[in-house]
Amino acid sequence: MIKYCDLKKITETYEPQLSEAISRVVQSGWYILGNEVKAFEQEFAQYCGCRYCIGTGNGLDALTIIMLAYKEIGIMEEGDEVIVPANTYIASILSIIQAGLKPVLCEPSWKSSNIDPEKIEELITPRTKAIMAVHLYGRCADIPQIEKIARKHSLKIIEDSAQAHGAMIDGRRTGNLGDASGFSFYPGKNLGALGDGGAITTNDKELAETARAIANYGSQKKYVNIYKGVNSRLDEMQAAVLSVKLQRLDADNERRREIAEKYNAGIKNPSITLPLIDNREEHVFHIYPIFCAEREKLQQHLLKNGIETLIHYPIPPHKQEALKEFNNHEYPITERIHHEELSLPCHQAMSDCEVEKVIEAANSFKA
Ligand SMILES: *Cc1c(COP(=O)(O)O)cnc(C)c1O
Repeated sequence: MIKYCDLKKITETYEPQLSEAISRVVQSGWYILGNEVKAFEQEFAQYCGCRYCIGTGNGLDALTIIMLAYKEIGIMEEGDEVIVPANTYIASILSIIQAGLKPVLCEPSWKSSNIDPEKIEELITPRTKAIMAVHLYGRCADIPQIEKIARKHSLKIIEDSAQAHGAMIDGRRTGNLGDASGFSFYPGKNLGALGDGGAITTNDKELAETARAIANYGSQKKYVNIYKGVNSRLDEMQAAVLSVKLQRLDADNERRREIAEKYNAGIKNPSITLPLIDNREEHVFHIYPIFCAEREKLQQHLLKNGIETLIHYPIPPHKQEALKEFNNHEYPITERIHHEELSLPCHQAMSDCEVEKVIEAANSFKA
């Protein structure tokens, strides 16, 4: 059986460094906001090419805290609008709601599965304050076009980089493509901890300081609280793990790209649409998505051939019970993506032989 994501196998490839890092923390006697978090924050800021990095408890909080900080600074107010792709993972949308703002859903482009810049401007109102650029599946959103719109209308660009650690546009990495960026280190992400974790990156000093305080009870100095903050911190153990794994992130992403290129070259089946690879640096293939009108039948066929696949995602956010206010909206491209998408296994611990098996099985499918 080829598993979709073999976390046990992936984790073993970082040993013994991972266990050594964890022991170091256990023996240090310091578990929250210490030297491990400080070191990882510096390493990750440097990796992204930006000035500030603030560890958080998870990716959802990273995004939420960015917007809470913009409110404290006076750049956003309760009820302001943030434009977000309709086909994103629901966390992007929930972060906007949790920050007391209003998500405005925008259709993606069918070709990229990312927000369609041509459809953004018609959604802008006097209350629009930001565009959330989600780099879905590991592919950079169309930042050059989004920047033009943001500049014209004085909007902030908030990146949701939870699926795209290390992806690059014109030599600039995610985390440094907008005004602020939220990352997730959920175990299955390209840079994954052994538990929950997240981070905010930005070049904006005021935003960085405000976000750091909000994530720690609204406090900069112990027992002095300047904001109604939250408790959302990256812990020392996860930071130590992430420092080990960050060293191999580029190599791991390169292996994902290699696998994606093998799939693109080898899968020749008229009933399957493959993802475009037009600029390889822009995609780190957190997910390798294929599209098929008979998705369920294809998934069964692959399973019979010993290949586990997942669907990202089976129900679009606007059809979820949690987002009732959007249930009567229509987003045809989003719905088509949710109807046809199937994710093939694609991670650094896969062998060439496994990749070949996936290609053969995909090619033997008859719709
Ligand atoms: C994983 C993910 C998040 C949330 O990250 P958590 O660490 O699980 O809170 C946000 N946005 C996207 C696009 C994600 O894939």
